[in-house]
Amino acid sequence: MVPGGPRTAAGTCSHPPALLPIAKKGPRKCKTNSAGLVAALAAARNGARRLLVERAGFAGGIITATGLPFFDGIADYHEKRVVTPGIPLELFAKMGACEPGATHLLSHNPTIDNTERFKLLADRLLRAEPNLDVLFHTIACEASVRGDRIEAVYLANKAGLCRVEPKVVVDCTGDADIAARAGAPVEKAPELQPMTMHFRIGNVRSTPDTRRLCREAVIRAHEGGELPMFYGPGLMFKFAPDEVYVHAVRVPADGSDPEELTRAEQQGRQDAWTMFEAWKREVPGFEDAYFITSGPFIGVRETRRIVGEYVLTEHDIVESRRFDDAVATGCWYLDQHPNAATVGTANAGQKVQPDPYDIPYRTLLPRSVSNSAGGRALPLGDAARRLVDARQRDGDGHGPGGRHGGGAGRAPRDHATRARRPAGPRRPQAAGRRSGAGSRRRRLTAGWNRGRWESRKPAVTWPHPTQRCRLGWP
Ligand SMILES: Cc1cc2nc3c(=O)[nH]c(=O)nc-3n(C[C@H](O)[C@H](O)[C@H](O)COP(=O)(O)OP(=O)(O)OC[C@H]3O[C@@H](n4cnc5c(N)ncnc54)[C@H](O)[C@@H]3O)c2cc1C
Repeated sequence: MVPGGPRTAAGTCSHPPALLPIAKKGPRKCKTNSAGLVAALAAARNGARRLLVERAGFAGGIITATGLPFFDGIADYHEKRVVTPGIPLELFAKMGACEPGATHLLSHNPTIDNTERFKLLADRLLRAEPNLDVLFHTIACEASVRGDRIEAVYLANKAGLCRVEPKVVVDCTGDADIAARAGAPVEKAPELQPMTMHFRIGNVRSTPDTRRLCREAVIRAHEGGELPMFYGPGLMFKFAPDEVYVHAVRVPADGSDPEELTRAEQQGRQDAWTMFEAWKREVPGFEDAYFITSGPFIGVRETRRIVGEYVLTEHDIVESRRFDDAVATGCWYLDQHPNAATVGTANAGQKVQPDPYDIPYRTLLPRSVSNSAGGRALPLGDAARRLVDARQRDGDGHGPGGRHGGGAGRAPRDHATRARRPAGPRRPQAAGRRSGAGSRRRRLTAGWNRGRWESRKPAVTWPHPTQRCRLGWP
């Protein structure tokens, strides 16, 4: 319920919230997260006035909010060819992880060496843009609509409840918060993927058996009823030789439900400590270990997703379908985190590694709301959901936040015909790879969701041996 102002989706108000002073400059608004950071930088660099709103005290989305150093899918699996140039590559290069303008990388899922330094980089880039206003510790919590346009978004922060009147809203909350509040059609998967609390432990003396013994200790904790669920565990000595970064916590919950989200944060933290204490008790090398940090936020893989002008399907991805209005390229594998304990891996069943595929502009346009466009909450077929989100980070103005998204006062959907990224080079057809590859891949994926696929020899066994040791899985 939003007090004051025009009739909101939730009703009328007692006193008008202050019109945020920034609003007087007539900004177009979007949020700072991994997709939002790129969208806002792209738009500001293309001359659009932007207001960035972020609930955390820093930008960067999951990279900084959950402490995730991965830039998965920035390069394709087979040739390590960069498929998301533009701002994602710029961020990666400015973190010193590759040469500026690199066309190929060493890995298809490289990492940055310090998520704290990524906060500083984001601050520096945001402050360098005169067209950009930034508000941290600010939650976008409501929207009011007139006709098919969002006419105001309500923000909650230390100044109380404020209202901004953006011309275009780029909702990169990850959960389609504003699109949903504005009445745009959204949907949820029948079973949402679980959340994960990443954490770090210091002063660990790594041994050749560390990962195997950690896995066994976690299985015992799980079988003993101390640990409801887990995956892997994935242990990486990523940030320092005696510091282990852990991705293993698994908590089923709906991140768009405030009570469930609160419970998940508490459960995630408890499970992280349960693992830490089991390792300290049972695994040589953890005797003098100490718990450094978790989160700060639990990682939410999926909640609501907008029903876009186009819904990208698994078939589109597995067949690497090309779209006239492609604005980004994805290439990450189809993965699904089950709500169950999985040992030595994060996923259920085998995975399918598609060739690079297009993400059409229309997937970012929520139906029935003309001046809005989306972030992670893209309309995708079930299994394809998660792998695409980061790809719209293919900035440089091709996406909704960029010069096409609401430039010149036009609504994002007015640009649908113009939003076209020059088609990237198709991967050369490897002999025998394509012949029947499509139908073989179709067969593989067809079986995938229905579990029949287990019995078939997969095209790509997963995780790849090099992948296993890099991800710290025994
Ligand atoms: C645990 C986990 C592990 C993952 N592992 C990988 C991986 O290894 N590789 C990979 O490529 N992808 C991975 N993903 C997927 C990928 O990271 C995310 O899906 C991607 O970051 C989505 O980007 P986004 O910008 O849309 O949303 P997010 O990065 O989730 O950012 C959302 C941002 O919006 C802010 N926010 C949310 N609601 C509001 C609001 N109402 N008002 C203001 N601000 C708000 C949040 O604080 C956050 O900063 C993982 C996801 C999770 C959850």
